[in-house]
Amino acid sequence: MFKKVLVANRGEIALRVMRACRELGCECVAIHSSADAESLHVKYADESVCVGRKLSSESYLNVPNIIAAAEITGAEAVHPGYGFLAENAQFAEIVTESRFVWIGPTAETIRKMGDKAAARRTAQKAKVPVIPGTPLLPGVEDAVAAAARLGYPVIIKATAGGGGKGMRVARSAEDLRQCFVTARAEAGASFGNDGVYLEKYLENPRHVEIQILADHHGHVLHLGERDCSVQRRHQKLIEEAPCPALSARQRQKMGEAAVRLAAAVGYRSAGTIEFLLDADGSFYFMEMNTRIQVEHPVTELVTGIDIVKWQLRIAAGEPLDFEQKDVRITGHAIECRINAENPQRDFLPCPGRIFFFHAPGGPGVRIDSHIYSEYQVPPHYDSLLAKIIVHGKDRPEAIARMRRALDECVIEGIPTSIPFHIEVLGNQTFVAGRATTRFLETELEGLREGIRVRTQNGET
Ligand code: ADP
Repeated sequence: MFKKVLVANRGEIALRVMRACRELGCECVAIHSSADAESLHVKYADESVCVGRKLSSESYLNVPNIIAAAEITGAEAVHPGYGFLAENAQFAEIVTESRFVWIGPTAETIRKMGDKAAARRTAQKAKVPVIPGTPLLPGVEDAVAAAARLGYPVIIKATAGGGGKGMRVARSAEDLRQCFVTARAEAGASFGNDGVYLEKYLENPRHVEIQILADHHGHVLHLGERDCSVQRRHQKLIEEAPCPALSARQRQKMGEAAVRLAAAVGYRSAGTIEFLLDADGSFYFMEMNTRIQVEHPVTELVTGIDIVKWQLRIAAGEPLDFEQKDVRITGHAIECRINAENPQRDFLPCPGRIFFFHAPGGPGVRIDSHIYSEYQVPPHYDSLLAKIIVHGKDRPEAIARMRRALDECVIEGIPTSIPFHIEVLGNQTFVAGRATTRFLETELEGLREGIRVRTQNGET
């Protein structure tokens, strides 16, 4: 195992990785921006280096300074977490060329799967079903002609897109003509690549993804699925495992398809293959995430497998010490992302000082968070404050446990998304296990009203 690992990230994921390092007996180095000097990941690490000013472009994305931090602290390996540089193939290359171990798949794999249009071709070659769609489209008339073949509605996607950004749904040729040019310009501006393509827009699917683990010794296996259908603007808010709508047979087929694709690209490390599950039970490849994901804990709770420790162990050359048949799914897990956002004001981000924080506890509750009483949430980064993850013997127990944990959680000083989660956990469609990616769109008004009433009664 490594003696020392540099964690090129901040917030809850930096802490999560450092906790894995501690358990494996490696020291950890934190990097931080000038705005994060008081952050918990800095206090928790054995050493820390300030790599730049508050803006991420000057700190968490500052490659020369991060490499210098690894050099001066004598770190052997770099863990990128998620976001920031985690799926930046060039950074992975620079880390490796600077003779540090990159804790993730190779730069080549990141590049190959990072381009969504190319990843679709790779999936097709591996005989994994993809959503009907097109290759990259040169112009608007090509898009209109392709959409006529696919049938409306279609979704315009940026090939370099991510984080739910750069997607537009078009319901007619007129719509498409209007959106296409802006979508391309936006993709160019946000991702430095204006390549766009079309997919058939599925009206009411579930987002179901498979967690992969692959080592350097030819073992590729999956840890089952996560259902991440509760989303706002294509960004996940609640995730659970297993998916309430997947039969054992479908689970097996989806798992096998994911393993086939990961093996076909020579995948090493932890990764996720995302699918859309349609109402008729068919599933289609959407994209692969070549990093650890925010929602990985639900899989850890139902499998008892520590995914982050395996990322480190795989990077250190250890073989996986279990086989597919050893992976057992026990009970049910749910994660709620608690954000510094006001659900009553269209989820407006609300950074500021947390006067008081009390974390929920008790049976089956896990908190992954970097906040503490008197912590100042900086406005420069994402708004995730904490992940509450619960594990129960079945889905009803997990839901009851999450409601209990949300009730126990106290964050004073800034608005958070806790009241929103309490409403969702009591919503009939969610409780019945019938939420699709359209859930929020159709239920938002009711959820808002619920929050308003609870607030008025002083319950939240
Ligand atoms: P990103 O990489 O930006 O997260 P994804 O391709 O993973 O984008 O898609 C994010 C979400 O957008 C999905 O979970 C789903 O809700 C929605 N989505 C994407 N493609 C389609 C599609 N073809 N039909 C319906 N919904 C889609």
